This record gives sequence, C-alpha cells and structure tokens, in this order.
Amino acid sequence: MAIISENNIPKKRRYGRIHFRYALVYITITFGVLVFLNLYCSQACKKVFYQNKETAILEKALHAADELEELDSMTISAVTSTIEGITTLKMDQIIVTDPKGYIIYSSDPSLLADEKTTISHIPKAIQGYDVFHWTYHSGTMRSEAAVPVISNGVTTGCIYVLEIDNDQGQLIMSLQRTILTITVTLELIIIAFSLIFSSAISKRIRKIMGSIRVLQEGDYSQKLVIGGSDEFTILAEEFNDLTDRLQTSENKRTQFVSDASHELKTPLASIKLLSDSILQNDMDLDTIREFVGDIGDEAERLNRMSEKLLSLTKGNSAEEDDHEIILMAPTIQRVVDMLSVLAQQSDVTIETDLSNDAPILILEDDLYQIAFNLAENGIKYNVPGGRLNISLSRNEDCGILTVADTGTGIPEDALSHIFERFYRVDKGRSRATGGSGLGLSIVRSMVERNQGTIHVESTFGVGTTFTVEFPAFDIEEGDGI
Ligand code: ADP
Repeated sequence: MAIISENNIPKKRRYGRIHFRYALVYITITFGVLVFLNLYCSQACKKVFYQNKETAILEKALHAADELEELDSMTISAVTSTIEGITTLKMDQIIVTDPKGYIIYSSDPSLLADEKTTISHIPKAIQGYDVFHWTYHSGTMRSEAAVPVISNGVTTGCIYVLEIDNDQGQLIMSLQRTILTITVTLELIIIAFSLIFSSAISKRIRKIMGSIRVLQEGDYSQKLVIGGSDEFTILAEEFNDLTDRLQTSENKRTQFVSDASHELKTPLASIKLLSDSILQNDMDLDTIREFVGDIGDEAERLNRMSEKLLSLTKGNSAEEDDHEIILMAPTIQRVVDMLSVLAQQSDVTIETDLSNDAPILILEDDLYQIAFNLAENGIKYNVPGGRLNISLSRNEDCGILTVADTGTGIPEDALSHIFERFYRVDKGRSRATGGSGLGLSIVRSMVERNQGTIHVESTFGVGTTFTVEFPAFDIEEGDGI
C-alpha cells in the first residue's frame, strides 16, 4: 500500500479557493442584474417626466399659437399684448418670430426685435412641425417647444417657449439617488451573504480534503462528521463507509500476515531444531535418517501450506470468463479416484451416489478443489472403519453436492470458526494429518466466487455433513456439455 506523507505532496502546487470563485461569479451576476434594474428604473422614471412635460408644454405653446392666429397681422404691439394677455403662459422664455425667423416678441430683453433667432427648433416649426425638446442635467429639467402660427393656411410665424424646472429636476435626482442607495445596499448584502455561504461550503470541502489526507497517511479509524442533510452529508457517509471497509480489509490483511508467519515459523523451527541436533550430536545413522525424514516431512508441510496460500490468492482474482457449464459427476468421480488410496490407508469406506446430477456454471478446477478438500477432510477426520458418503442431488434451482462422514464431528462452539484461515479444532490431530487450517477457507472462497453457498452440520463424535449448492443451469439438449 502506498503511503503518501506530507512530504510527498508537491508543495508548489497552488489551488484557487473555490468559494472565492463561486462568490465572485454570484456577485458579478447580481451586480449586472442590479445595474440593469437601476438604469431601467431611472430611464422609466425620466420617460414619465418627459411625457408629462411634452403634453403640458406643447399644450401651452399651441394655445398661444391659437391666440396669435386670431391676429390680423403679426405686429410687435399686437403680438406683445396677446402674449402678455395669456395668464397661463408662465414660461422662462417666450419668443415669437415671423415666417423668416426674425424676432417679433421676446420675453428675454437681451434679444432684440428684428434680430434673426439662432434657436435651432424654430426653423423646423416654421416648416409646419410641432417641436418638443427635453433635457435633464444635474437636477435641472429644460423643456422647449416650438409650434407654427398658421392663419388661413399660411404660416405667419412661430412661437417658441422654454421652461426650466428645478423642482421636478430635484425630484428625479432624489428618485435616482434612492434607487442607487437601494442597489448598493442590496449588492453589499448579496456580497456578505455569498461570502458567508460560499465559505461555509468551502469549510466543508476542506474538512473532507483533510480527512482524505489523513486516510492517505494510513489512518482508517477516523470518522468524517459534516452535519447537514445535503450532498456533502451523503459524501461524508460514503467516505465513512469506505474507511470502514478499508479498516476491515487492513485488519484482515494484518491478521492474515501474522497467522501465516506464525504457521510458517513452526515447521521452520522444527527443521532448524532437527538439523542442529544432527550437527551437534553424535548420532547413529538410523537416528540421522529418522531426523532427515522428519525434516523432509516438515518441508513437505511448508510446501503444501505455500500452495494453499497461493490458491487462496488465486481464489480472489479468478476471471469470470473461465467459467463453464458442466455436470458435476465426472469431476467428483476424479476426486474419489484420487482419494481412494488415502481412504484405504485410513480404513475409511467411500460411498458415492452421483446419479442425480445437475449442470452448473463453474470453474472446473474450483469444483475439483472444493470436492477434494471436503472429501479429504472426511477421511482425515474420520475413524478407522468409518464411512464417507459423497452424493449429488438437485432441487428446482440448484445442483447439490453433499459430503457426509461418520468421523469425529466438530464441537458446536468450533462450527462457526472452521471456515476461518488457519483455524483448526484439534491442532495436534490436524498437524498430524498434514492440516494447515486453510482447506475450508479455500473451499468457502471458491464456493462464493461461483455464486454458491456452503452449509455444515455436525454432531461431535457422530459425524459431519457439508452441503454445497450451486445455481443449476439447465441447457437445451444438443448444446453438448
Ligand atoms: P485443515 O487443513 O487443518 O484440515 P481445514 O480448513 O480443512 O483445515 O479445516 C479446519 C478444521 O475444521 C480442521 O482442522 C478440523 O479440525 C475441522 N474439520 C474440517 N472438516 C472436518 C470433518 N469432516 N470432520 C471433523 N472436523 C473437521
């Protein structure tokens, strides 16, 4: 397992803080929206003022033009008395011109009669248009209107009025200020909230990252507590599940290594003791032969144990593709043939009933190993004159292999442990029969990887029955098993 320490983490690598990015994006978007709303409100408010002014000023200018149209001729005195007689016409500037743009009347004494006006709206009005122009600047509203004076279809002049309204200008300014204050306040609130919110998220992410770092250093015992009920909470739960699983597998690994080294140490110590005895003592040839034979037995035991350990490792990495649908009987028969000599030596009779076979999907080597280990145990842990019965049967869904013996049986308290690695009920007997405590754990791992189940029943002093079930795969005739 690779352990990544603090020193292994590249120090120069710098990451942008995610919460600043999120906050920045959020603030920018809301800022844009608020600026848009601000401008829109300000423009809408100006438009309302503009429309009101246009109606009011044009109405006054048209009324004055109507009065002037009544005159026989546009003389200075007639125009002056008409304009000054209109009491409602209160403007900051009033100019009346003839059709050529020369001033007839001006409320501004600095503009003299008969002078040509330079106001740009007047020529347009003389052409027959009603002109209105409105500007607003720094709290001052300036409204100008120019309309033609038409008598009997002929343009006899033009009237121009100007109004400078500071009151309404101030009103617009105060409205704009209020909108701006609201906008700035809202933006400040949004900035504060987005920073608080995003830093809360970032704090939780940092907590997860911290836990991952601790995990990388090999500490699987820590628990990540993150609170809340969102995706981060689910992530924390998944993380804790993962650390639990890693802790369990680490415990198993440590246990396995310590068990394996302990088991290997015993035969190695025996070999060392026997070889030292041969070297140090003056022994006769027969004793030396006996000791060397013992060394050979221990070496053989080591060999068997390492083979079983290898088989356990292989059991965890087998490929699905190697599975095939087979009938069980031929493989079981091979096992029986292989163990017949051992059975004879142990005075155990093997009985078989393989007629009720079923096709199952399995690795053939696994089936052989499962049956071999179970049958070998049935002989090893049997009594002279005992029997070992191996039978096949099937129910609706499964093919069933039963291995039953009339041997020593297994004490009740040991039954739940017999599938553990290196577990042996009677260490002395098991060692004497070459047992390593690995046979049944290999059986269980092979059964499980072939989607099977294994079940044991035993009565101490009477016998033991192992039942293994695999899903049956019935195939059409002619598919050729
Ligand atoms: P071993 O290599 O020691 O036989 P196994 O994993 O095959 O290891 O079996 C574990 C232990 O279970 C054995 O040591 C033995 O005590 C017990 N056991 C297994 N099979 C039988 C059986 N058929 N009858 C009695 N005891 C058994």
